[in-house]
Amino acid sequence: MSSLTKHDAVRSAPRLADSIVKQRKTFRYRLYPTAKQAAALDGQLSEACRLYNAALQERRDAYRIKGLSLSYYDQANQLKEIRAAGDLELSNFSCCQEVLRRLDKSFKAFFRRVKEKKGKAGFPRFRPRSRYDSLTFPSYGDGCRLLPTNKLKLQGVGQVKVKLHREVAGEIKTVTVKREAGRWFACFSVECEAAPLPESRESVGVDVGLKAFATLSDGTEIENPRHYRGAQAKLRRAQRKVARRKRGGSNRKKAVRDLQAAHAHVRNQRADFHHKVSRWLICCFGLIAIEDLNVKGLAAGMLAKSVNDAGWSSLIDKLTYKAEEAGRLLIKVDPRGTSQRCTCGASVPKTLSQRWHECLSCGLSAGRDHVSAQEILRRGLRLLGETWPVAACVPNEAVAF
Ligand SMILES: [Zn+2]
Repeated sequence: MSSLTKHDAVRSAPRLADSIVKQRKTFRYRLYPTAKQAAALDGQLSEACRLYNAALQERRDAYRIKGLSLSYYDQANQLKEIRAAGDLELSNFSCCQEVLRRLDKSFKAFFRRVKEKKGKAGFPRFRPRSRYDSLTFPSYGDGCRLLPTNKLKLQGVGQVKVKLHREVAGEIKTVTVKREAGRWFACFSVECEAAPLPESRESVGVDVGLKAFATLSDGTEIENPRHYRGAQAKLRRAQRKVARRKRGGSNRKKAVRDLQAAHAHVRNQRADFHHKVSRWLICCFGLIAIEDLNVKGLAAGMLAKSVNDAGWSSLIDKLTYKAEEAGRLLIKVDPRGTSQRCTCGASVPKTLSQRWHECLSCGLSAGRDHVSAQEILRRGLRLLGETWPVAACVPNEAVAF
């Protein structure tokens, strides 16, 4: 609950240092390279991939032959020599360093997993060129610059047309160029000042549903968007097509491209939906209580929930940074048993299939997820030491996004 205490401090005694909190945000834009530029971009990526794999090979060999563990600096110190010998065609020096840093990161994560003994630790793997899809310029202005002509100047590629569909708000720190199903994007990571919303005393509990996307403590249901099903069917068709094509053939290549595009489409739709839901929650409520699905030892039902909707964690991510930006409170509560308790405090055990809540002690009769959302809000408020507000049990209409 570290974020909780931090926000509390902000609310009780606003200080200058808190009111100009800097934030990191990412702005993503489509790039339109010419055929020649696209080939150059592909070339830069494949060189970055080659460097990544070579550095991985060196680390493996050093460990196997001499029992040595190489550091980022051991490898970065060789870059100058490699580049001077003309062995590497990745144009920007900082990009090369960033590739080595990525590898270093994956090794650190590997050692951490070994230490924690979390199942199989999974040694860092060689990456095929087809899957090495992004290149980061770690300091803006070094090999990468946005020109007033709506072009992005990239070292080793040229001036690439960029569609700035909205303003880049803030100071650009890093730029990542991405290849996604045959399309190119530039992601600007910027530092900007947080813009708090007017204060709201409204509070809400959010329950992730199996049927509805989420249910709020006031009874509002947020439906899963309808276009999901259509996109899923399309995805399955694309998947089947890949499976039927002969390996290594050009038809398969095309089918793979279509599948990637279908995946990207679903991803975009889901992200769009999550942005809308989280923005709406942040606008309406000053305090939002949700289940913390990272708690260990979740019951089978809870686990089904978290597995069932992989999107939930992506919504939490968006809620988290939007809450921080707007000065809202986001409270994560222990999810265990939220569906088994009535708002009056009585225990009302239910199996997963029981969708209705009937309390024998107080007579409350309401939807299961609705009562769960109220319990989540109660737990959140208890963490804050506030009292439980009057329960509003009349279901509202469903909201559609
Ligand atoms: Zn009750």
